[in-house]
Amino acid sequence: MSHEESNVDPVHLERVREMLFSTAAEGLVLVDGSGTIRMLNPRLLELFGYEEGELLGRSIELLLPESFRRAHVAHRKEYNAKPAKRHMGRGRELNGLRKDGTIFPVEVGLNHFTVEKERYVMGLVTDISERRKAEEELQRNTAELEKRVEERTAELAKGARAVEIAYEREKELNALKSRFVSMASHEFRTPLSTIMGSVDLIARYTEGPGNEKVEKHVQRIRTKVRDLTAILNDFLSFERLEQDDVSSVPEELDIVHLCIGLLEELRGMAKAGQALEYDHSGDERSILMDRSMLVNTITNLMTNAIKYSPEGSPVTLRTAVDDDCLRIVVIDRGIGIPLADQEHLFEPFFRAQNVLTIQGTGLGLHLVKRYLDLMGGEISYSSTPGQGSTFTVRIPEKQYKP
Ligand code: ADP
Repeated sequence: MSHEESNVDPVHLERVREMLFSTAAEGLVLVDGSGTIRMLNPRLLELFGYEEGELLGRSIELLLPESFRRAHVAHRKEYNAKPAKRHMGRGRELNGLRKDGTIFPVEVGLNHFTVEKERYVMGLVTDISERRKAEEELQRNTAELEKRVEERTAELAKGARAVEIAYEREKELNALKSRFVSMASHEFRTPLSTIMGSVDLIARYTEGPGNEKVEKHVQRIRTKVRDLTAILNDFLSFERLEQDDVSSVPEELDIVHLCIGLLEELRGMAKAGQALEYDHSGDERSILMDRSMLVNTITNLMTNAIKYSPEGSPVTLRTAVDDDCLRIVVIDRGIGIPLADQEHLFEPFFRAQNVLTIQGTGLGLHLVKRYLDLMGGEISYSSTPGQGSTFTVRIPEKQYKP
């Protein structure tokens, strides 16, 4: 003890000790060797709901739940028979019994000591209801969270499987649709060509004066059969492109020769007074290109120009071979394309708002774009609604040259 401390008034120190005991936040209880409560602080009374004086001299087991009392007595006796030095250490979690019969969780720290041969145990009791509640809440939340994660994972797995099944089904349906479209288009083309053959024969048999009406109808049948064949051809081309079943096979061609031949055929579908003009600039006219793709591209652009311009309105086709590029320009002075529709032109089956009464599939420009992609070419256009459209195509020729 230091010199200064030895000077402190012992009565004062006793008061300090008394204060410590009575104001401690934990319940303090002193029990003798027989388990009788010998000393306690106000906090302990408060914790267990007793009044002053109700606990002194009573057995410590009074503060324990019925189910635990017997074990506690045995435990005490065992300790008394064979005391082992113990310090107030880490608490044990137990339950306390209040005067009103309610049970609450406590943490108890014990300190055993002996004074003049009498054994005592000092208990430090903390009410851990709040902590227990928080722990239980945490456990419940964790469990709930785990359950939710499990549910979501299961839902996701189920969703993923459903998407997989839907995708497989979609693929099967798509393949089925492709097979059907190809088959139907093929099968339709044969009878159509028979019809065309018979119509030609009828035309020949009925040739001559007085049969103008028959001729008019024969012509009408021819046009419609040709339209129908064109639609079927578009479907077939589309399916083939979708199946990646098409590649460019370049051959030596004379562009002027090819265009004049095409114009001959296209004149059959031109409207009354609709002149189809053709102009090739430059001396070079020999190109190396896939004939079918090139024919398809020019025919589609020209057919559109004819279809979407009125009677008497001319359509111009221009070609040029320069800088190892074939340039094709198709100009009409027809209905034009509404601005809002222009960005969708090359989507399959797309048709602009102003053409709904004119027959078409919406596949032509899409096919043109796909063929140009395969040939390394590009397409651009300008169009003013009500005034006409110009489509410009450039196809590099160089890459096909051996
Ligand atoms: P289709 O002519 O069979 O409808 P296309 O794919 O060839 O299909 O053309 C798509 C759409 O682009 C047409 O429906 C039409 O609205 C518009 N279009 C294409 N060319 C022209 C043109 N020369 N003039 C006006 N509209 C055009």
